[in-house]
Formats: sequence, structure tokens, C-alpha cells
Amino acid sequence: MSNCVINNNTETTVCCEYGRIISAEEQHEHVIEEYGGDSLGVFKTCVDCCSIKDLYWIPPDHGELYDSIRRAIIEGEGDSLVNGLPSLTPTAMDKVCEMLKKSWGGEHDE
Ligand SMILES: [Zn+2]
Repeated sequence: MSNCVINNNTETTVCCEYGRIISAEEQHEHVIEEYGGDSLGVFKTCVDCCSIKDLYWIPPDHGELYDSIRRAIIEGEGDSLVNGLPSLTPTAMDKVCEMLKKSWGGEHDE
């Protein structure tokens, strides 16, 4: 969440990364993307996804966080993901663990 403004919600909203409901007053990342002066939209990201983004080298394409993780696991970055797990929020940790398990389980499906 390093370069981003953190807003508190006044109403419930939805995380742009995986559709989790962000409840009112829960902190989240609030980014207004602009290109050449045109607004491309407002992207809201929950603390769980933010903790993943902060930890890894995830490109700032909104809505592609979990695709990036999946790709990283396929490309053999799973170990470095595991090393970062303790810094994640509990929910984020669960999500990354689940993806690692699925991917690693799938590879050894004989
Ligand atoms: Zn999220």
C-alpha cells in the first residue's frame, strides 16, 4: 500500500482483485488511475490483496493479482512465495497457501 492513499469506506464496496466485500470503515487501497488526463476508473483493493501486492513484485494491473501469483507459481517462484507468507494477513496467507497446494498437488498428480 506504499504509494497509495488509504481511505476508509463510508459504504460497502468490492475488492477489485477477487470480489471480496469490503465493509464500511474497513481500510482499503483507493487508486484513481489516469492516462493522459482521462480517468480510467477507481480501483479499490482490500487489505488482504494489498498485503500480497506489497510483499511480492506484482505488476500494478488491477484485477490480475491472483493471475500473477498463479503464473509465478507455474514459473517456479513458489518457494519465494512461501518465504513471504508470514508477512501476509491471515486471509491472504490462506489464499496463497491454497493456490500453492493446488498447483503443487496438480503437478504431482500421477
Ligand atoms: Zn482483495
